[in-house]
Amino acid sequence: MGHDAGVPTTTADADAVLIGGGGASTAVLHHLALHLLRQQHRRPLRVIVVDPLDRLAERPADRTWCSWVPRGSAAEAELEPAVHRWWPTVQVVAPDGTAAELDLAPLRYAMVRGEDYYAHVAGLVDLARERGALQLEHLPVAALGVEEDSSATRVVLPEGALVAPVVLDSRPAPPARPGASSLVQHFLGQRVRGREGSVDPDRAVLMDFSVSQPEVGLAFGYCLPSDTATALVEHTAFVPEPLGAAEQAAALAEHLPRALGTTTSADLVVEHVETGAIPMTDAPFPQRPPAPPGLRRSRVVRLGTAGGAVRPSTGYAFTAMQRAARAVAGQLAAGVPGDRLEVPHPYPRRHAWMDALVLRALLDGPRRGGLDGPEFFVRLFARNPPQRVLRFLDGLTGPGEELALMATSPRGPMLRAAALDAAWRLRSGR
Ligand SMILES: Cc1cc2nc3c(=O)[nH]c(=O)nc-3n(C[C@H](O)[C@H](O)[C@H](O)COP(=O)(O)OP(=O)(O)OC[C@H]3O[C@@H](n4cnc5c(N)ncnc54)[C@H](O)[C@@H]3O)c2cc1C
Repeated sequence: MGHDAGVPTTTADADAVLIGGGGASTAVLHHLALHLLRQQHRRPLRVIVVDPLDRLAERPADRTWCSWVPRGSAAEAELEPAVHRWWPTVQVVAPDGTAAELDLAPLRYAMVRGEDYYAHVAGLVDLARERGALQLEHLPVAALGVEEDSSATRVVLPEGALVAPVVLDSRPAPPARPGASSLVQHFLGQRVRGREGSVDPDRAVLMDFSVSQPEVGLAFGYCLPSDTATALVEHTAFVPEPLGAAEQAAALAEHLPRALGTTTSADLVVEHVETGAIPMTDAPFPQRPPAPPGLRRSRVVRLGTAGGAVRPSTGYAFTAMQRAARAVAGQLAAGVPGDRLEVPHPYPRRHAWMDALVLRALLDGPRRGGLDGPEFFVRLFARNPPQRVLRFLDGLTGPGEELALMATSPRGPMLRAAALDAAWRLRSGR
């Protein structure tokens, strides 16, 4: 077979190889299965997932994904079967304990348990397989790397290699170069069961800033009820370095009874523990590695955290991962090779700049002319319609809405951050 611009000449082992089988990859399988179940196909699409962890149906309950979803949207319909709870309103609690109820209409806050999402997608994949639309194989090994030239892209495994015209890579990866400001979102959560009737199932708390604050950065609690006895309660900190395990456990233990409106946590049963550290940085995560000689673009697309899906100012990534997966699914099914895949940029460039300012100002803190984190977020939600803030965090607002958001941010700290950022860019040539 001859080749031109990106069409591999080496026989392929699959139509696509997915390196990493976590959030980003599961979203791709989700949208791919939905797409294949809707369309006519001549032969099954062959996909191989490479991940040392369990295959989809057996992945552990390792995370809870929350996001806000427009009512009546395609995203709502796609996600509905995997959603554990929806809330039309959420609360933001100020440092003094004052709670503000935010009506999110036309959005709703969605809570998707990892295990439910994996099971739902595994079910769709099975259906697509039964219909002869998809052949999915899972290789339980760690990929060692990717080698690419103009004729082929090879995923290097401990034994052998896989050749495919498309490689979607969601292995954790460092940024292309260091940024100016980096925090880590470090959180610990427990799914707890108390007495029947002890939990208000309609009171979802997005951010409760009445917890002790770190010296640099910010901290908040988070409470998402499942029913009248069970809730997921988390302690989250945006800090320069992860908290110590004991410090984090103590912070959650202190917050738990208050979050649930009880005086003691003695009668609570912990059903599940969830922890994580998400990078919040203005360092760049390119969506593709450099192109090899003779190719316009690499056939490798980086997805998820490795591809810049994590919103630097919040650590949310779910919606951006869904967006990328939706865009990729139809193209994969149509046989578009990796170098021609069009994948939306996770967030607009001007949002990346605004996030860089927020990170810098949070790191400086009020004592060094920067932001008081809790005050900043409470004020943002108090002075803007919640939909505007949430749409901004999803990367969906236009310049007019962004000007309105900037007008409600503390002017001094943000102007100072903008000046420091401009000086840093001049110095570093960015
Ligand atoms: C506990 C937790 C809760 C979160 N909650 C939210 C939330 O509520 N809302 C939100 O928007 N975001 C949330 N996030 C952030 C983000 O959505 C998740 O981190 C998401 O899982 C990122 O998907 P990913 O595919 O990039 O990474 P992962 O899901 O971590 O998947 C990466 C995969 O790569 C595999 N891997 C590693 N090395 C190799 C290798 N060499 N070869 C092959 N495979 C390899 C790993 O085994 C893993 O399965 C949360 C993150 C965590 C950790």
